[in-house]
Amino acid sequence: MPELPEVETVRRTLEGLVAGKTIESVTVFLPRIIQRPDDIAAFCTMLEGRTIGSVERRGKFLRLLLDGLVLVSHLRMEGRYGVYAAGEAMEKHTHVVFRFTDGTELRYKDVRQFGTMHLFDPGADLTQPPLNKLGLEPLDPDFSLEKFKAAIAEKPTKIKPLLLNQEYIAGLGNIYVDEALYKAGIHPERAAETLTNRELAALHESIVSTLREAVEAGGSSIKSYVNGQGEMGMFQQQLSAYGRKGEPCSRCAEPIVKTVVGGRGTHYCPKCQSLKRGSKRSV
Ligand SMILES: [Zn+2]
Repeated sequence: MPELPEVETVRRTLEGLVAGKTIESVTVFLPRIIQRPDDIAAFCTMLEGRTIGSVERRGKFLRLLLDGLVLVSHLRMEGRYGVYAAGEAMEKHTHVVFRFTDGTELRYKDVRQFGTMHLFDPGADLTQPPLNKLGLEPLDPDFSLEKFKAAIAEKPTKIKPLLLNQEYIAGLGNIYVDEALYKAGIHPERAAETLTNRELAALHESIVSTLREAVEAGGSSIKSYVNGQGEMGMFQQQLSAYGRKGEPCSRCAEPIVKTVVGGRGTHYCPKCQSLKRGSKRSV
C-alpha cells in the first residue's frame, strides 16, 4: 500500500498533469469505487464543468480541489492515475475516466479494486469520514515534539501498531514505521508509555527525516507502486531495515530480523533495537 511518501509523490505528479484542466464528462465503470454520493450519475454530473485547481494530500488520501467541490481519493493497495489522449486504448482495470475539455483524460486504474472516491463541498471533507479521524500530519511544520508526545507518549500500546494507527499520526505504514523505529533504535514491541523523553525525541526526528528523505527520492517502489507518470520511486535502495531480513545492520553488523508485530511483518535489528532498553521515563 502506498504510504505518505508515495502518495505525496503521486500528488505532485498529478498536480502538474491536471491542475487548470476542466472536466467535460465523467464515466464510472466500477460503481463501488465511488463512496459518496451514493448516486453514481450524480457523482458524474456534479463534476461536469468543474476545473481542478490543485491536488493536496491528507495522510494517505489525495484531495483534488475543484471549483466548488473536493474529490477525496484513496489509492489503497494498487490504485493509479494516468493522463492519456482521449483516443488512446483503454487499459484493463480502468474504473473511472475524467474527460477534460482539452482532449485529454485522467484515468483511474485499480487492479485490486480497493480504492475509494468521495465527493464533498469545499472544506466539508475534513470534518467527515474518511478524513475526520486522521491524526497529526507528520510533514506539517506544526508537527512538534510536544504534539507528538501528547498523541502517543502515555499509551500502553506497542509502539509499532500505535504508529500504524492513522488516528494518531496520519500517513505512516509498514515500511516507514520499520525504518523510523530502526533509525531511532527502538524495538517495535516497546510499549509507548515506556519510551524515554530522549527516545521520543529521537523517534519524532526519525519519522520526519525518514519521510522527508523518502519524498525526495520519489517514494519506494515495493511491489507495484509507480507515480502518476508510471515512474518508480528510488527510496527502496535506501531502506535500512524493511525488506533487509538476514542482511547486516548498517550500524552493528548484526543480521536484521523479521518477525510479526500486530499482524504485520516487522524488520528490526535485535542489537540496536533492544526490547529492554529505557524501561523508565527519564529526561
Ligand atoms: Zn544494529
